[in-house]
Amino acid sequence: LRGVVALDGPSGTGKSSAARRLAASLGARYLDTGAMYRAVTLAVLRAGVDPTDAEGVAAVARAAGLAQGDDPEHSTTTLAGVDVGADIRGPEVTCAVSPVSAVPSVRELLVAHQRAIIAAALEQAGGIVVEGRDIGTVVVPDAALKVYLTADAEARAQRRAKQDSDSGRAATVDATLADVRRRDAYDSTRAVSPLRPAEDAVELDTTSLDLAGTLAALLELVER
Ligand code: C5P
Repeated sequence: LRGVVALDGPSGTGKSSAARRLAASLGARYLDTGAMYRAVTLAVLRAGVDPTDAEGVAAVARAAGLAQGDDPEHSTTTLAGVDVGADIRGPEVTCAVSPVSAVPSVRELLVAHQRAIIAAALEQAGGIVVEGRDIGTVVVPDAALKVYLTADAEARAQRRAKQDSDSGRAATVDATLADVRRRDAYDSTRAVSPLRPAEDAVELDTTSLDLAGTLAALLELVER
């Protein structure tokens, strides 16, 4: 792969697994920008700062010492050198990540950080798959390929609940559906970088696709 593939869309569309596999099969790097917003959120919670306190959140974000790896086989997230890959997937972080990621100065900081990681990856590997909510609209508006993944809310909640139970966390589909809807509403209505497809994005509906099907569809788009 030469250049950037931008993968955006709401949670539970199979975006993360497909993005990672796509990058691995193309010999490209991989950047999970959601992990970065989650890591800042974890730092906010650990500091005892209210996730809706924009100034407090911004100060924590600047001091967090966040580092995000870009290896598709082993994507790492660290705060001050300590691995937080498991902690950022917990329910406390998932609950608080929307207000944290709506703070404009947090987005400015992380977008700059993401662009630096992307520039280094392009220099070293030539290509990178970047997944998030605002990659095609804000982070890399000139990406070679932009894909916007969608799926019915029920299908997304089922995937999310399965992921949670696979990693040992109890979750009913109903509770997960409520959570998915709440986060989608928040992410799509926030003032800065709301979740929406870029004008030149290709939409891919994954409701009836499994991981292999999603990957095949993405590979076809890359090769087009
Ligand atoms: O993708 P993931 O579910 O890990 O993202 C967690 C949250 O981080 C999203 O619900 C969204 O609020 C925020 N996010 C964002 N912009 C991105 C990636 C994630 O605002 N590029």
